[in-house]
Amino acid sequence: MDSETAKKMKPESLMMSYGYKPELSEGAVKCPIFQTSTFVFKNAEEGKSFFEVAYGLRNPHEGEELGLIYSRINNPVLEILENRLTLWDGAEDCAVFESGMSAITTVLLEFLKPGDLLLISSPLYGGSDHFIKKILPKFGIHVAEFKVGQCKDDVIKIVEASGHAANLALIYIETPANPTNDLIDISCSKEIAEYFSSSNKNEVYLAVDNTYMGPLWQHPLKHGADLVLYSATKYIGGHSDVIAGACLGSKVLIKRVKGLRTFLGNMAGPNTGWLLLRSLETLKVRMDTQAFNANKIAAFLSGHRNVEKVYFPGNLTEKDGEQFAIKNKQCLTNGAMISFDIKGGEKEAFRFLNSLQLIKLAVSLGSTESLAEHPATMTHVDVDAALRKELSITEKMIRLSTGVENYEDIIFDLNQALEKINL
Ligand SMILES: *Cc1c(COP(=O)(O)O)cnc(C)c1O
Repeated sequence: MDSETAKKMKPESLMMSYGYKPELSEGAVKCPIFQTSTFVFKNAEEGKSFFEVAYGLRNPHEGEELGLIYSRINNPVLEILENRLTLWDGAEDCAVFESGMSAITTVLLEFLKPGDLLLISSPLYGGSDHFIKKILPKFGIHVAEFKVGQCKDDVIKIVEASGHAANLALIYIETPANPTNDLIDISCSKEIAEYFSSSNKNEVYLAVDNTYMGPLWQHPLKHGADLVLYSATKYIGGHSDVIAGACLGSKVLIKRVKGLRTFLGNMAGPNTGWLLLRSLETLKVRMDTQAFNANKIAAFLSGHRNVEKVYFPGNLTEKDGEQFAIKNKQCLTNGAMISFDIKGGEKEAFRFLNSLQLIKLAVSLGSTESLAEHPATMTHVDVDAALRKELSITEKMIRLSTGVENYEDIIFDLNQALEKINL
């Protein structure tokens, strides 16, 4: 396919072919797993020339791509995967990692230095929260945080009150928040970054963890984000069989991210890359089905007598004011993550979870099979108890990740388990 035709196509039409040249692999219709650590140079001059570009000693010539050197620097499977991932978010470039956490921590280490201030939204994924609050301070990095519902002026005041406003370097947000589905305004976060960029020595960047909506349902770069991050373990991988991560953004910023990745050595391996290439072929059909199912399930839960409250973007209305406006601005669907409070406490919640038959009792999300868990004692057990309460992560909350099963069967399973909670 020529590149002009490719530009006219939707991402899902390109996931089987984009960036792969069969003639370079014996005509194989699928990209093989390039299970190799190193690549043979045609001659010493070529090796020298590849290294000059890889280490930034010279700029590539017009149309020159980075030559294949060593799989910590680049590998054909990863390059094809990265090119395909850019299509969904409309990004210039992408870097793939061996986990979501390695993508996130590499970005934090690349864009922060001792003395800098990092501004985060709260709550964050537990692993990100741990790294930011327990590990970054060891390197002299300060952290300020804001919560859902705080407006631009409140957040500016929080940054100023930290005493490090002049060193604000990065804003890091996660939206929708896990597990409450609370939304943070991406374009407003960008305005805050710009507000401080104008007075600070260096530009303040905005990074968004978009794992919860995946590459289909929310495009943070279009709302002003500089970097978008994924745990590719979730929707992108989508089959609960691989751990991986990704970071997308402009060529200039991803060059920095890939530079640090080379030296931390936390790139994904060829086998992981190949699994993700395979997963991307069905990303659209999987996620369409998950979003469709989630709407049906949320409607069912909202009407069940043993359910007290449902946390789902699709349930937001005009009455929810700002949250509803943010959803309409930046979310393309309601997503497929549903949290709900059942009537009762831990005992009832556990009885519900232990009664499930089709839905698996497991953490993680975005996979083909539906998964349910208890945030208060599992994914969010490490969150400070008072904060947990403030965020409504209580004993009665269940988090459900909607899979691709027939929605009637998922609802059947939820219903029979809900009927058992007060037996
Ligand atoms: C799972 C997850 C991560 C961490 O990703 P891993 O692939 O498990 O390292 C980060 N952010 C969010 C929102 C997640 O759900």
